[in-house]
Amino acid sequence: MVPGGRNKAGGEFYENSPPFSFWASSPYHGEQMIWHVDAELNNIAAQGRDYPWERPKCCLGCGGPKVWGHGFAERQFEGFDQTVPLKCYRCPGCGCVITLRPRGYFRRIRSAVASIRSELEHRLEKGRWRESRPNMSRFRHWLGNLRRQALAWLGWQEEQGLAAAFDRLLKAGVVPVGRTIHTENHIGSDPPQ
Ligand SMILES: [Zn+2]
Repeated sequence: MVPGGRNKAGGEFYENSPPFSFWASSPYHGEQMIWHVDAELNNIAAQGRDYPWERPKCCLGCGGPKVWGHGFAERQFEGFDQTVPLKCYRCPGCGCVITLRPRGYFRRIRSAVASIRSELEHRLEKGRWRESRPNMSRFRHWLGNLRRQALAWLGWQEEQGLAAAFDRLLKAGVVPVGRTIHTENHIGSDPPQ
């Protein structure tokens, strides 16, 4: 191992990796990023770690030209009994970790975007939830977050406008039901989800 080099799976090492002092001071060091890609969750679950993920053309953090495979993150999704492995990449330049995620699923949320929207829309239109089901509290939680996001980003407080706010925020790259007020990281020309 060369000074400043970092071990890589299989005993190889990154010869051109910057010294640790650079890593520690990089603003992206240890940063977790999400890259939404066109991928079917069903296919990923079926093929597991053999799924042919695409590779980011550059680092989402520093724009560096190359990212390295960095294993998998096992994540839970609604409708799947077992965890699904999501491909991770790491940038040797800035140290950030990029996790690929199928489009249509928000970061840290197991349910599909479409099903969340459908539940919220029903509640907003009818004034009540569709039916009682396990974990009803998460729907209320999402509605509360949507109200906060709509107010923070759009200045909207009217209940009638919340379904439209959901779509506006989604288009703008904001997780409409996210707890914290921040945008998702993304690259490419596709609209973020
Ligand atoms: Zn980077």
